[in-house]
Amino acid sequence: MNQPFPFGNAVPRSLDELRFENTFIAELPADPVLTNTPRAVFNACYTRVDPTPVSAPRMLAWSDEAGEMLGIARPAAADGLAAEVLGGNRLLAGMQPYAARYGGHQFGHWAGQLGDGRALTLGEVIAADGTRQELQLKGAGRTPYSRTADGRAVLRSSLREFMCSEAMHHLGVPTTRALSLVGTGESVVRDMFYDGNARPEQGAIVCRVAPSFVRFGNFQILAAQGEHEALRKLMDYVVKNFFPEQNNVQDVFREVCRRTGELMADWMRLGFVHGVMNTDNLSVLGLTIDYGPYGWLEGYDLEWTPNTTDAEGRRYCYGNQPHVAQWNLARLAEALLPLVPDKNAFEEGLALYADTFSAAWQRALAQKLGVGALDQPGDDELVSELFQVLAGRETDSTIFFRNLAVPTLQSLRPAFYTEDPEHARLEAWLERYTARVRNESRQGMNAANPKYIFRNYLAQQAIDALERGDATPLERLMLVLKNPYDEQPAHQDLAARRPEWARHKAGCSALSCSS
Ligand code: AMP
Ligand code: MG
Repeated sequence: MNQPFPFGNAVPRSLDELRFENTFIAELPADPVLTNTPRAVFNACYTRVDPTPVSAPRMLAWSDEAGEMLGIARPAAADGLAAEVLGGNRLLAGMQPYAARYGGHQFGHWAGQLGDGRALTLGEVIAADGTRQELQLKGAGRTPYSRTADGRAVLRSSLREFMCSEAMHHLGVPTTRALSLVGTGESVVRDMFYDGNARPEQGAIVCRVAPSFVRFGNFQILAAQGEHEALRKLMDYVVKNFFPEQNNVQDVFREVCRRTGELMADWMRLGFVHGVMNTDNLSVLGLTIDYGPYGWLEGYDLEWTPNTTDAEGRRYCYGNQPHVAQWNLARLAEALLPLVPDKNAFEEGLALYADTFSAAWQRALAQKLGVGALDQPGDDELVSELFQVLAGRETDSTIFFRNLAVPTLQSLRPAFYTEDPEHARLEAWLERYTARVRNESRQGMNAANPKYIFRNYLAQQAIDALERGDATPLERLMLVLKNPYDEQPAHQDLAARRPEWARHKAGCSALSCSS
């Protein structure tokens, strides 16, 4: 933990030098009940609750970039103040921890109150760039929203969230960030595959960072309970702090739709599958939020989902994400109806979602293919034939697009998971593509087609090592994933397609919600 730290002119601070603010607490209605037991909460946006201390907090990983954003120096010791605070054992002056109240539609069904069952916001800080950022611990203990669960998180899912948040940021995708990964020194019992084989695993806590963690579900629970005054206050809070340019509820909704459309195009262009797009897992700010059983496409397959819980219905599979986002936005619109009792008021936003997504997706595809725009006769066929070719045999879409900068069979070979002498269709497509791009500069292709993504099996390797106490694979990945669009010859192996041993290995291609 002693790399140089780029602060510009700002003086890096230690955590205890930060000044904490609490606008969420100050501006929104609080739960009047203070007992920390699972219960239904009414007429409130949050409950004040402190983290539950852990036995031996230890800093396992730190994001210098998230630290830089906040103006916080990398802590010198793995077991010092930062581990104490970010492990939930110590509150700093000005922190007023809270758990937010929200509900949500899970797998298409209204699930009632959910809320921060294991996440706690410690407070807000003003970042180096002047933005306000919440620091939130995930896995910090029980809250009134924990229902029957333990409020904790295991190391494997925490590492996945920590790493992927930062990887997504470097890929240019709006996301919540992650500052730290703290081991708790305690074990957490999980039945990873819900098959009766519960076992103790190492516990961990991630410190997430975002301007706000407000989800569609924060509005939904208030509408569902008829708590219209609180609903209005939450909207006022969100407008004041995050949508200062929007003048009314419809305009805010439109902007949420627009951002969500952009976000879906980002996920789709990169082959990211969130895995649990319940309405409580969609951010009102248009950020990727709640990294659970997510995954990255290996073989191009519209129906692929990493989430074993969703293997049957495939509601949240890769190809369904844009549609599900719109369905979720419609649920958000319903929750806003008490504020604007006119259903038509939200139609425009929903239409804007569809337009934004399709424009952003077309733009992304054009960039991926190295053409100025997909506006020539025959372009639609070129694209649809490409996706049929990709789906027709197991092809790694990340490698395929990256290597398409040199559009030859030879160059594309590393993308194929199976040996298949039958290349005629691909060759025909390549000929067509080559003719199409003859007069295009194809300059920006590498900036649209990442070389390095946080591949499912790489995540599992980093987890296996860290569980043994070895942070080297994690640190190497963090370094490489800072520049996902750059060639990094020394790390070529991290750009390889999934090895065969990982095809059906737990944690690599199949993940449960158990975390
Ligand atoms: P998720 O599927 O992770 O988005 O979680 C859905 C809901 O379950 C949220 O309200 C979470 O806070 C809650 N939850 C998930 N895991 C736990 C846990 N271990 N302890 C308490 N609440 C949890
Ligand atoms: Mg969630």
